Amino acid sequence: MSDTRKPRAPRRPYIAGNWKMHLTLDEAVRLADELKRRVGRIRSVDMAVVPSFPFIASVAERLRGERIAVGAQDIHPAPSGAYTGGVSGPPLRSAGATFVLVGHSERRHVFGESDGLCAEKVHAGLDHGLDVVLCVGEKLTERQSQMTFEVVERQLRTGLEGVGAAAMAHVTIAYEPVWAIGTGLTATPAQAQEVHRFIREWLGDRYDAALAAATRIQYGGSVKPDNVAGLLDGPDVDGGLVGGASLDAGGFAAIITAAAETVSRGDF
Ligand code: PEP
Repeated sequence: MSDTRKPRAPRRPYIAGNWKMHLTLDEAVRLADELKRRVGRIRSVDMAVVPSFPFIASVAERLRGERIAVGAQDIHPAPSGAYTGGVSGPPLRSAGATFVLVGHSERRHVFGESDGLCAEKVHAGLDHGLDVVLCVGEKLTERQSQMTFEVVERQLRTGLEGVGAAAMAHVTIAYEPVWAIGTGLTATPAQAQEVHRFIREWLGDRYDAALAAATRIQYGGSVKPDNVAGLLDGPDVDGGLVGGASLDAGGFAAIITAAAETVSRGDF
């Protein structure tokens, strides 16, 4: 990786596995147990899994006291009410979730969620004591039309509208180019770093340099054991949001182990 513009700030790598709408309860609990066995002792990487709603409580119970956090894949903006099928912050917290994904590309582009709705969800998470992973990223046609920065800037600006500096301690950004999610196509380390740097600079302008340096920016999009080290080489790439590869305990553990190795090599 040729980008040596400035040394990496001391941010702990953060690897999260998004299980999407996969697994049964038994499988989810087994996967949690297996992860605990394989990576439970790793101290240098923050780790998380994001099961579907019905499994959050059981997985959180299984991982109680472990260093693997449990998150939710979505949140309803309202705290409670007549919203059949919706799941809001208080039940998520009471089930053991400590964070929530907002604006995942499948929510934006399959379920049609707007930037404004994502902003409401960011606030809902923060208001209910959940950390937030705000996902941003461009579609293939947008990248081909040179609109990547414009799209990412709009998603950041709208998604973080009204989020003050103090609350940003509870926000992680995930850059997930839509064309790389679940497709097997990964952004090159240089492509990822370019957008991560843009995001960090945007955070510096919107907030300040110290906040920008402290905020973690994950990369997501076909992260695998064999490409994670190259991606983490980017000085602004602080971890991964992993979909498909997180469903296999061995593969996900290998990704976490590779991240831990970047720390022990002093690359982080
Ligand atoms: C994701 O779901 O956020 C994701 C990046 O998926 P995958 O790793 O399968 O591309």
